[in-house]
Amino acid sequence: MTLDDLFLPVLSLVAAGAVLGLALARRRISALRSELSRLREVEDKASELQRQHQSLGQLISEYLGFMRALHSADGLREIPQMLLKFMAWLFDPEEALVLMHRRAAVTDGEREHQLIVAACIGTKVRKGTILRLGVGELSTVALAGGTLDSERGQGGRGGELEGFVPDLAVPVSIDSQTLGVLTLMKANKPRMHARQLLSLFAQSAALAYRNANALNRVRSQADVDALTGVLNKRGLAAALESFIAKTTSHGRPLAIFLFDIDNFKNYNDTNGHLAGDDCLRLMARLVTESIRADDAFGRYGGEEFLVILPWRTTEDAHLVAEKVRMNIEAFDFPFGENQPLGRVTVSGGVASIPEHASDTTDLIEAADRALYAAKNAGRNRVRRAEMMVAPERVENAIDELEPLPLEIEDLQQISGIGPAFATRLKELGVISFRQISELDWRGIQSLAVALGTTPERILREEWLSQARELSSSALAPHSAGDD
Ligand code: GH3
Ligand code: MG
Ligand code: MG
Repeated sequence: MTLDDLFLPVLSLVAAGAVLGLALARRRISALRSELSRLREVEDKASELQRQHQSLGQLISEYLGFMRALHSADGLREIPQMLLKFMAWLFDPEEALVLMHRRAAVTDGEREHQLIVAACIGTKVRKGTILRLGVGELSTVALAGGTLDSERGQGGRGGELEGFVPDLAVPVSIDSQTLGVLTLMKANKPRMHARQLLSLFAQSAALAYRNANALNRVRSQADVDALTGVLNKRGLAAALESFIAKTTSHGRPLAIFLFDIDNFKNYNDTNGHLAGDDCLRLMARLVTESIRADDAFGRYGGEEFLVILPWRTTEDAHLVAEKVRMNIEAFDFPFGENQPLGRVTVSGGVASIPEHASDTTDLIEAADRALYAAKNAGRNRVRRAEMMVAPERVENAIDELEPLPLEIEDLQQISGIGPAFATRLKELGVISFRQISELDWRGIQSLAVALGTTPERILREEWLSQARELSSSALAPHSAGDD
């Protein structure tokens, strides 16, 4: 056998070996490639997990913040706005609404079948819009307690509220009672499990609602009046104390409205004691409907009721009181025509902290005096309490006003101020034109007490506005044409 004879077999062996080697190398490369892509996938998954972990951490910390805010809410009215803010953070929706069930009312049977827009963003729908429960997607959520999710092919019809087409809607419900609906459209921040997430917040809100409601209304059965179901004197005192503590620490005003049914003895004598009881019950319901859920209300005594109006000034409280009085006057109580005024009416007094008092006893006394002034003035009216300023507070107020030289004649130039009044001002050594022009309502009240007159008289005499005019013209630079 020659070398030539071996050449071919060896060559084919080498070639076969090379082909085999190549094939093996290819397989190895492709194995490596798939290993690499698997590693890449794992890496992607790891970073996705890390991202999810981070956003979950953020979500939990936001949720905790939300819960803290919810449970320290000062009242029910703040909750819808909190929910909306949270929905905005969570989904960044183009439009979002918080709808709440309206409270039942003796004056309006329709209310029970209505939702009201309690908070909204980015939508043409206005806050306060009423949605009648009937047909429609949001009604279904509110009535049946189900959810609506465009991801699951639901929603997207809208038409119940102007231009609003819900993508997501969940009920705010507790113990199978629906309090409201959270809904949004076009989320810019899509979330996994969006519906479940929103439901979680809705449930937390429902709990907070129930707690706030319970706290507002009733602390225990011992605080409730058996006849009317509203707070009794004890419950009112407790509510007042807790509001006063917050007033002091937050530096906010607190007002009350104390009222008494007019000629109620006549109502009992004419229509019987049972009819009298019915009238008290109806009165309690009517007033509950006329005030906010955050206000506290109860029966202070026989036919006397008290409304506590947190963070309201005397002016604001007077408006509420007047509304309550008018609602009562307008309501057709049975046998109203037998009353001396031809209707069931009330008389009441409004007082507030810090204007009229600094503690519960003084506050009630101030409102009580105003109530009796209202009775004496002919009943069926509301009176504000008289300004009460402790002498040392007047002294302080006066001390703060730096005395400036001012002639009595100057003062008398302001029409409406008689010589005696002007002399008294001068004796007090407190008044300059500038000072008069700078007095605010509280200053006027202090001045009125110091002068032994009423703020109303000072304002009625209009010398304040004239003083303002005089002082501004005195301060204005003289133009050449003046001389
Ligand atoms: P005014 O306008 O000055 O308030 O006159 P009034 O008749 O309402 O005042 P008065 O204090 O003379 O009478 C109050 C009446 O309220 C007497 C009492 O029988 C009645 N009353 C108090 N508590 C109840 C109650 O629980 N049920 C009923 N039916 N009547 C009550
Ligand atoms: Mg009475
Ligand atoms: Mg009375």
